[in-house]
Amino acid sequence: MGIRSMETPDFERVFMDAGGRKGRPFRTLWRLYRGQRINLLLSLLFFIIKHSPVWIMSVLTADMINIISRPDADLKWFWIDAAVLFAVVLQNVATQTLHVSFMSRSSRLMEAGLRGTMMRKLQHLSMSYHSELRSGKMQAKVLRDVEQIELLSKQVMYSFVPAILNIIAAVTIAAATSLAVASLFVVLLPFAGGLVYFFRNKIRQRNRDFRRQIEEMSGAVAESVEMLPVTKAHGLEDIEIEKVNGTLYNLRGKGYRLDITEAVFGASGWVTFTLFQVICLTFTCMLAYQGRIQIGDVVMYQGLFGTIMMSINNLINVYPQFAKGFESIHSVTEVLASTETDEYQGTKVPGSIRGEFRFENVRFHYKDTDKHVLNGFTLDVKPGETIALVGESGAGKSTVLNLAIGFYRPTSGRILLDGVPFDELDMRAYRRQIAVVPQNTVLFSGTIRQNITYGLTNVSEEELERVIRMANLQDVIAAMPDGLDTMIGEHGGKLSGGQRQRIAIARAMIRNPRIIFLDEATSALDNISEFVVQKAMRELIRGRTTFIVAHRLSTIRDADRIVVMKNGRIQEVGSYEELMQRRGEFYQLKQLQA
Ligand code: ADP
Repeated sequence: MGIRSMETPDFERVFMDAGGRKGRPFRTLWRLYRGQRINLLLSLLFFIIKHSPVWIMSVLTADMINIISRPDADLKWFWIDAAVLFAVVLQNVATQTLHVSFMSRSSRLMEAGLRGTMMRKLQHLSMSYHSELRSGKMQAKVLRDVEQIELLSKQVMYSFVPAILNIIAAVTIAAATSLAVASLFVVLLPFAGGLVYFFRNKIRQRNRDFRRQIEEMSGAVAESVEMLPVTKAHGLEDIEIEKVNGTLYNLRGKGYRLDITEAVFGASGWVTFTLFQVICLTFTCMLAYQGRIQIGDVVMYQGLFGTIMMSINNLINVYPQFAKGFESIHSVTEVLASTETDEYQGTKVPGSIRGEFRFENVRFHYKDTDKHVLNGFTLDVKPGETIALVGESGAGKSTVLNLAIGFYRPTSGRILLDGVPFDELDMRAYRRQIAVVPQNTVLFSGTIRQNITYGLTNVSEEELERVIRMANLQDVIAAMPDGLDTMIGEHGGKLSGGQRQRIAIARAMIRNPRIIFLDEATSALDNISEFVVQKAMRELIRGRTTFIVAHRLSTIRDADRIVVMKNGRIQEVGSYEELMQRRGEFYQLKQLQA
């Protein structure tokens, strides 16, 4: 896997450069094919060869008709023409394959490279970037936008360039034989294009209206189905039926109008198309009647003009696709040109960490608000100490954790680890010595063993067993069909909440971290599970500096110190007993939960 990713190109530079200069998507696209341009050129060459029958055919057809319409026809040339036609048509299969093969090779490589670049970039972007951009949006960028870009490049190669070449070839052939006809083509071209575009646009507008209405309808239907228990429970069926009916009738109206628009403008498009051909036919026939061109040439011009009209049609067809592709290039640029990489860029690699923390008057607000979530947070934490953070929701507990992990950087004040300011620290080296147990256990599809040892190599079997015992997972694993190697579905579907939490604890333990960040799960467990999880947690935090965001006050008796937070400040600090005796904020909270 490592080697493959080395083979695919890295495009970050391209987008970094493009980031500053918006609105040049073609240039960006072109740069994505750097290193592939020979392939593109070959693809184009094979396109010209494979497509040549279209042009040669009209010329030779004219020639053949001209030959046989002469009274003293010399059939030798007639047969030569026929043979040439045979040959140029037959080569099409091979050259078309080559044309597509060279293009596809480069576009697929571009696609893989672009996805790889994005996935790499995602790993390097800061957490604050990720929390702003919802993960679904990110997925859409990696999957759909990249696909759109690939589609765009194919459309350029398979529709846009061919159409332009067709028009150039047709006008050139016409010009070489009759300037009068060529001029007619050039004069008619913009008119035809304009009219066809106009009709298309009308249909597209109606289509857009219709699609919106369909989306509205599916929303209404989904909502109605979801509401069903409530609707029925309150006896509101009739009102609900009425409501959905309204949407359905709206859709019917829009649908009818769309059909009529399509009929009128679809037909108008065809009529324009054909009328222009009739104009061309009449004109060339008159020229032939006057003896200025030969009879066969009339057929040739008719064919050339048909090719031109078809090309214009194709250009208009790909136009909306282009708009989509450009939009996708823009969307991908947003991510790849972002400079919001990890907050800290220090280089000091911590040796073995003792686990002493110092928060010096830390203030912090999230990017999109001015409200300070932390407001002068000051705390010294001794190595090996367990600190429980409590306080009402929104007090800033998780934010303290995020800052201590280094996901965010204080707006003022600073954080030191073992006396070293975070700014100087190599964050990735630091994070290799910490373990994070998030509120919602994140399991990936794989075996239990893989989930526990995530990211570690060379974990001995004894070590794994020790950790499993400490996390109290041995019974769970024994009951599984394949033991440790049992596959757990995506997001750990088959496991209970308590089991998942214990796997997360085992995952933290096996890293043997110096520092642990625990965001206690809020979801209630039954008493037995709770007891087992508690036991595992106690094993985990023994002898390591630990920060727990505690939601259940019963779980923090063992903490060395409890930090009570309110509005981003520390309200009280002390051991459980001290705080209870003080009868202050903590005592109040405790009373509420009792
Ligand atoms: P707690 O963990 O004590 O419940 P948090 O630290 O999660 O509190 O949140 C503190 C405040 O910061 C809350 O008002 C919350 O709305 C806000 N907040 C949390 N995360 C973000 C974020 N990513 N962007 C903006 N505001 C946030």
